[in-house]
Amino acid sequence: MDVLIAHGGASHREDLKKIVEKYAFNAIEEENALNAVIKAVMLMEDDPEFNAGTGSNMRLDGSIQMDAAVMVPNDFGAVINIEYVKNPVLVARDVMLRSPHMILAGDGVLKFARKLGYEYYDPSTEEAIKRRERVLQKLKNGEIPSYYHPQFLAEFLGDTVGAVARINGEFAAAVSTGGTSLTLRGRVGDSPIIGAGIYCGKKGAVVATGIGEEIMRRMLSFRIYHRIGEKCLEEICREEIEKFGDVPVGVIAISDEDACAISNRSMPYAIVKTQR
Ligand code: ASP
Repeated sequence: MDVLIAHGGASHREDLKKIVEKYAFNAIEEENALNAVIKAVMLMEDDPEFNAGTGSNMRLDGSIQMDAAVMVPNDFGAVINIEYVKNPVLVARDVMLRSPHMILAGDGVLKFARKLGYEYYDPSTEEAIKRRERVLQKLKNGEIPSYYHPQFLAEFLGDTVGAVARINGEFAAAVSTGGTSLTLRGRVGDSPIIGAGIYCGKKGAVVATGIGEEIMRRMLSFRIYHRIGEKCLEEICREEIEKFGDVPVGVIAISDEDACAISNRSMPYAIVKTQR
């Protein structure tokens, strides 16, 4: 049985579930796990409803810097703070498959992408511009006293997208994000950090969403992966998420036996299965 889980971000609208499901069904048709998770993430990057690719959040200075990563057992590729490309997840795949490196960042990753033929693309949308204006206004009014302010988190958390799959017994994971709204240029979240926002090995695959700083602090994805086999996967994910208390977080995880999606906020996700 092949399985793919896709999510559209912790703290994002539940009613996007139908769209995430459509993309997941489309993606699971791919011939292998890596292509399937990339396809699921690409479809969400191209949909401005999600904070990845087109529709990405703007930094406080108005720029858009995106992070993305892909992982299969024993290999990893990530891009950090990439600008002006349409699909960061594809560039992350190429870092993994077509460079000797695992992570490329900033102007170096852009040069790499252009060399491979990725064309100039501006991912900004009207909605992203308005969202930044709202953040700046709230900052000016002193309505956002801290990064972890519940009202700020409810309104402005990132909504990263991600997918994990098991196809023909092989695992893969992919993630892509425009980051959170209240961030400085250059900020890096958990998504492109191996073991934090993403992990994949022979036992399964995990992708996280939520406040990147907290997810990194806890190495959430590796922590869950490491515990696979200890008990039911859903219970492991629940236990790890409970440790975040009030901080928004979500995970999707898959193993040989289980597949689950859990968040302490609303999170549109889909778990789809096919028999080949
Ligand atoms: N984890 C992402 C970040 O901190 C944001 C999100 O998942 O909503 O960049």
